[in-house]
Amino acid sequence: MNTVEKYRKYVNTSFLKAMEPVVVERGRGSSYVEPDGTEYLDAFSGISVVNCGHGNREVLEAAKAQMEKLVHCCSYVYHNIPMADLAEKLAQITPGRLQKTFFGNGGAEAVEGALRLAKQYTGKYEFIALTHSFHGRSLATLSVTGNAGRKKGGGPYIPGVAFAPAPYHYRSPFAQKDPKMTASLCARYVEEVIGTQTSSRVAAFIIEPVMGEGGIIVPEPEYFEELLPILKKHGIALIADEVQSGFCRTGRMFASEHYGLEPEIMAVAKGIANGFPLSGFIAVEEVADSFTPGDHLSTFGGNPVSCAAALASIAFMEREKLAEKAAVKGERVMERLRGLNGRGKIEVGEVRGRGLMIGVEFVKSRETKEPAGEQAGRLRALARERRVLFGLGGYYGNVIRIQPPLTVTDDELDRVMKVLQESIDAL
Ligand code: PLP
Repeated sequence: MNTVEKYRKYVNTSFLKAMEPVVVERGRGSSYVEPDGTEYLDAFSGISVVNCGHGNREVLEAAKAQMEKLVHCCSYVYHNIPMADLAEKLAQITPGRLQKTFFGNGGAEAVEGALRLAKQYTGKYEFIALTHSFHGRSLATLSVTGNAGRKKGGGPYIPGVAFAPAPYHYRSPFAQKDPKMTASLCARYVEEVIGTQTSSRVAAFIIEPVMGEGGIIVPEPEYFEELLPILKKHGIALIADEVQSGFCRTGRMFASEHYGLEPEIMAVAKGIANGFPLSGFIAVEEVADSFTPGDHLSTFGGNPVSCAAALASIAFMEREKLAEKAAVKGERVMERLRGLNGRGKIEVGEVRGRGLMIGVEFVKSRETKEPAGEQAGRLRALARERRVLFGLGGYYGNVIRIQPPLTVTDDELDRVMKVLQESIDAL
C-alpha cells in the first residue's frame, strides 16, 4: 500500500476530498520534495507555520541540541529551562504589558485557555466573536468560530456567544463607499450586539487582527479606533488570536502592532517554533494571575524541544529582519496580483493582505461579486500541476491564499505569480 492508500484506509481525516495529492518526504527552504524527487514551491507554509523556511538549520540545530539533553519532563511539574527563557522572550516581543505565558501544543488549545482565563479574570462568562472568524476545532473554539461550514455536525455549542459583523468591506452588509466608514459602522454595531444579544456579562471580545481562514480579511484601523472604547466602557477584555497572524507573517512581529492593540490576552501557535508543535496564551500580569493554583495544566505543553526551536526561530526572525522583508515582499506581490487578468472566465474581486498573508478573492463577475469557489478550487489544482502549492480559504472557498515561508526569494515569488496567471489562463 502506498502512502495515499494508507491514508484512505487508516487515517481518520474528514479532509480527504480537500487534500492535495502530494506526498511530502522532505522540505527545504520554500520547497517540498516528494519521494520520487518531484519538487513543489510551497506558497502556504503548512498553513502559515514554517515562517523561517523548511529545514532551517539554526532551528534544527537548537532542537537537536535540546533533544540530546531533555525531551520531556512535564513543564508544569518541573521547571524546564527553554520554556522559562521563551516565556521571558515572549514578554519582551509581544505588545503592551503582556507578560505571563501558559504553553500548550496547538492553536485551539491556546485559544481555549485564553477564553477560560478571560472568564476567571472578569468573573463574567459571555463572549463576542466575529462572523467569518476561525479559532480552532475544539468545542469552545468552534463556539466562537463564525463559519457554519466548520461547525456543522458538532453542535450544540457553548451558550453565551454573540457574533458581531466582520470588518469585511468587500462583502459587508454595512458596506459604504469608503472602507473606513464600513469599518466604523461594523465596530459601532458591537454596542448593539452587546445590547441585544447578551445579558451584559461579556468576559471577552475575541478577534484575529488579520483574519486568516475567513479569507485574509484586513480590518481598517478605524475598526479598532471605534471598537476599543466600546470594550473599555463595558469592561470587556480583548483576546487577540494571533495564531495565524503572529511571528512576522504580516510584516510586524504581531499583527496587533499595525493597530497599536494592547490586548489583555494573546493566543499564539503556528509560526512560533517553525513547525515544532507549540502554542501559548500570554496575558498581562493581573489577568494571568487570576488562575489559582491547579487551575490549568498541559502534560506536553511547553515541550523543551519545541521551546528551544521557538527561541531559535525568534532569534532567526529578528536577525534576518523577517518582518521587514515580509512587508516589502508582500507589497510587491499584492501590486502585481492586482494586475492579474481573469480573461473573462474568472475575475479578481479583491486582493487583500498584510505582509506575506495575502488573499486573492475570485468572483464570477466583478459586478455581481458572485463567489467563484469551484473555479478557485480548480485554480489551486492547476497551480499544483505546475508545481506551486496555494492555500484556499474564505467562507465561499473562493480565496486563494498566498502565505509562503518568509524566507521566500524574489525569484520564487515571481514564479508563484507567473503560475497563478498561467493557471487562470488554463482555466
Ligand atoms: N486560531 C486561528 C486564527 C487559526 O488560524 C487556527 C488554525 O488555522 C487556529 C486558531 C487553530 O489552530 P490549531 O489548528 O493549531 O488548533
